[in-house]
Amino acid sequence: MSLLIANIGELFTADTELGVLHDAAVVTDDDRIVWIGPNSQAPQADERLDAGGRAVVPGFVDSHAHLVFSGDRSAEFDARMSGEPYTGGGIRTTVAATRAASDDALRANAARLTGEMLAQGTTTWEIKSGYGLTVADEARSLRIAAEFTAETTYLGAHTVPAGADPDEYTALACGPMLDACAPHAKWADVFCERGAFDGDQARAVLTASADAGLALRVHANQLTAGPGVRLAVELGAASADHCTHLTDADVDALANSATVATLLPGAEFSTRSPYPDARRLIDAGAAVALATDCNPGSSFTSSMAFCIALAVREMRMTPAEALAAATAGGAKALRRSDIGRVSVGARADLAVLDAPSHVHLAYRPGTPLVKAVVHDGDVVR
Ligand SMILES: [Zn+2]
Repeated sequence: MSLLIANIGELFTADTELGVLHDAAVVTDDDRIVWIGPNSQAPQADERLDAGGRAVVPGFVDSHAHLVFSGDRSAEFDARMSGEPYTGGGIRTTVAATRAASDDALRANAARLTGEMLAQGTTTWEIKSGYGLTVADEARSLRIAAEFTAETTYLGAHTVPAGADPDEYTALACGPMLDACAPHAKWADVFCERGAFDGDQARAVLTASADAGLALRVHANQLTAGPGVRLAVELGAASADHCTHLTDADVDALANSATVATLLPGAEFSTRSPYPDARRLIDAGAAVALATDCNPGSSFTSSMAFCIALAVREMRMTPAEALAAATAGGAKALRRSDIGRVSVGARADLAVLDAPSHVHLAYRPGTPLVKAVVHDGDVVR
């Protein structure tokens, strides 16, 4: 089936050659974009979606999310907003609830969250494990994640479970747990941080995972300027995520690598922490992505538009930079060239905004601006 999206007032392609087009139209066929051009020259198609002069953007690519979990941590958020610091220890609360939940309960929660994402214009989402922390519970989390996305990430090394020895647990995450999870995962990730996994432990898990055929990403430098970013670059990870506390050497390493700096401002918002310095990274030449880090503890938002608004207001990104980071940047962080931009041959994933320009995503924060979503060539909303 072909679809004509006509009367596009502003088409933000996130494609470096195409840029921003006006009075444009897009034609999709099946799950691909097959034509982009002036509205007046648009060919016919089986179906027609009239954008009515509104802005159209690529579907958002949320390259960092934790959607297989159970439980609620609003009380912890409430305490934090009353002055308690964020330490990452609350992950264990979610681990207990997740282990106790049925497969169907976990599935229903992931379905609810991916439904929220799609309704808000996100058409690709990555999903990590990391709230099971046993061989069986991590493998189960990834089996369920794989029902919702091809971008599944083994995060057995999310935190050391209560009562476990850190080195023994690291060995488990490099051995039997990895063996059970690798068939269901595309990526491996480690929370490299004081209080979670140190540089040596993170290196062990990442190298074992690479040997098992998984590509790499790292939770790096969220709370302290630790070794995570340089480890991610050294091991050729697709992405170093958070990048909140960076030394000059970290920025240089990112700028001279293919590793994307994925910034997650929802986490700083929800933990009332200083935001990462996106301007410093961009000006140094590093590739930047934006993602939600959707998780029940430190960033319980499914809204990429909210993250774009935070990036513009708090991280000194321009609206165009923030939107590019939330689309093409996320695609790069997932090493995908078929998503995150509007170009011929790319997947037919687009969002129609109830606004005349992409600037409104940051200019009208908190406002539901996504009027229609095209996913795999189908108008799903
Ligand atoms: Zn995360």
